[in-house]
Amino acid sequence: MRDMSVPGLVGTGTPSGAGRTPVLVAGGGPAGLAAAAELSLHGIDCVVIEPRAEVSHRRPRAKTTSIRTMEHLRRWGVAGKLRDAAPLPVAWSQRVTFCESLAGRRITDFDGAFGLTTERDDMFAESGQQVPQPVVEEVLRAHLRGVRGVDVRLGHAVTGLAHDDDGVLVTVRSEDGAEYLIRTGYLLGCDGAGGVVRDLIGARYIGRSDPRPNFNVVFRAPDLRTSLGPAVQYWVVGGPAAGLMGRLDLAGTWWAGFPGVEPAFGAAHVSALICGLIGAPVPHEVLATDPWTARMLVADRFASGRVYLVGESAHVNPPWGGHGFNTSVGDAVNIAWKIAAVCRGWAPPELLDSYEDERRHVVEQTVASAESNMRALAGDLPADAAAIQRAKRAEFHSLGLVLGYSYAGSPVIQFRERSAEPANTTTYTPSAEPGARLPHAWLPDGTSLYDQLGSGFTLLGPAGRASALASRAGRRGVPLALREPPADYPWRDEFLLVRPDQHIAWRAGDPDDIDLDVVIGRSRMGTRRHRG
Ligand SMILES: Cc1cc2nc3c(=O)[nH]c(=O)nc-3n(C[C@H](O)[C@H](O)[C@H](O)COP(=O)(O)OP(=O)(O)OC[C@H]3O[C@@H](n4cnc5c(N)ncnc54)[C@H](O)[C@@H]3O)c2cc1C
Repeated sequence: MRDMSVPGLVGTGTPSGAGRTPVLVAGGGPAGLAAAAELSLHGIDCVVIEPRAEVSHRRPRAKTTSIRTMEHLRRWGVAGKLRDAAPLPVAWSQRVTFCESLAGRRITDFDGAFGLTTERDDMFAESGQQVPQPVVEEVLRAHLRGVRGVDVRLGHAVTGLAHDDDGVLVTVRSEDGAEYLIRTGYLLGCDGAGGVVRDLIGARYIGRSDPRPNFNVVFRAPDLRTSLGPAVQYWVVGGPAAGLMGRLDLAGTWWAGFPGVEPAFGAAHVSALICGLIGAPVPHEVLATDPWTARMLVADRFASGRVYLVGESAHVNPPWGGHGFNTSVGDAVNIAWKIAAVCRGWAPPELLDSYEDERRHVVEQTVASAESNMRALAGDLPADAAAIQRAKRAEFHSLGLVLGYSYAGSPVIQFRERSAEPANTTTYTPSAEPGARLPHAWLPDGTSLYDQLGSGFTLLGPAGRASALASRAGRRGVPLALREPPADYPWRDEFLLVRPDQHIAWRAGDPDDIDLDVVIGRSRMGTRRHRG
């Protein structure tokens, strides 16, 4: 039994008066809200503890919601709501523009950046969306308010925990400062880099910080126009003023970022910095400043007992490329469907061991890619189109990273060696190899193949041959939907067992060869003689 001492707590039993919940989510940022959305999709109740009563629009941080995150939002029924709430419609711009200033010469453009497209593409169910992080959080908060079984407690904070083999006793401080206890089966530490759960389980970040400071600004400039046309980011390079900026909405609110600028210098010269990027004196009102440092940090472990670190509490990466919050959402989906499976009784707790195995690999790839994007910041780039295209393409076109990551090598995926090749982060090639995201397809009725998948496992393959597998699943209580792929699907003659997170767990010519016990964590590949 592990007993992590908590001030004011003796032992780990459930004191009288302690509330109970199957899952407690510490932190209601993108990771915590996504975890709650995924748990609720599978019918698992949770309590979300979040100190911020309101989200802050003055500190917008993430603006890039990736294709993959949009696909998860689609599963939760929230993708359309996010697009409705996003101040910049995808149709308004899909471009990043490099220029000498907003009033100056265009150097080069990247079109279709960040997965932004208005065309239907066979490779994905949703395009990317530019939308400030506070808007994403508000949309998710509103969604969760309407979901039964999710209790979001704003103004509350987790202050301590004690855990044993049966659960976790969590101390929470309420808005009025009083502390109370909640007993939970699982605690998700979604409380970010500045949270408490990582320290409370004795995990620590390994990595380093970029020595260069960054200074971000939010300002209003309703009269600011540019002849360069709409772009989601304008990079000003090659001259004395260097940085990037973009609209937060179409009503005159902008953000700007200045790499290499110290907070004190930035605060003293904020107007000159803004007008330097614009290339002309334009009336503006500074609404907020936000100094930050790029960090490349990954926790030495993502779990302890029944406590899991999710999102930035487990890893921090530089924002270049826009992957931080999207990776946090990917973590949340991965651990939440697995916890739901265990809570519902159709998978053993060993399934949860695969969380760190699967996500650490993705996180390390993402941190490496973001660090590589950081090598050429605005001040490092010449006013040379070809050089910019070479240096920055991977930052704006990263479908290989966003859609192409694989869980191959996981203990709950049909065995394949994890590729030793460095991943191609730029180009995505659909793959039906075990571990990959199921290749997407549009169906003749206009819906996505993803819309047809069950909320548990789905067997995709020719009709009429899976009754034995369906019986095995039924005996184990594993939810299994049987679906036929569309007529032109390249893998239509094979059987693909798809997990709730749309990753392929098993690929077979004969469904009787699929080992269900492996994919739910009941046995390991190669340790069993007979099919599960
Ligand atoms: C300038 C900048 C630009 C960025 N741009 C992008 C981008 O374009 N795309 C992208 O994907 N990412 C981007 N990011 C990164 C993104 O902001 C983070 O990765 C994201 O916020 C991580 O989400 P999270 O939920 O894991 O953590 P957080 O957002 O940090 O959420 C943690 C939550 O836990 C709460 N909390 C803290 N302590 C406690 C406690 N004791 N108990 C309970 N709750 C607690 C906090 O209030 C907070 O709400 C950017 C970051 C920066 C700095």
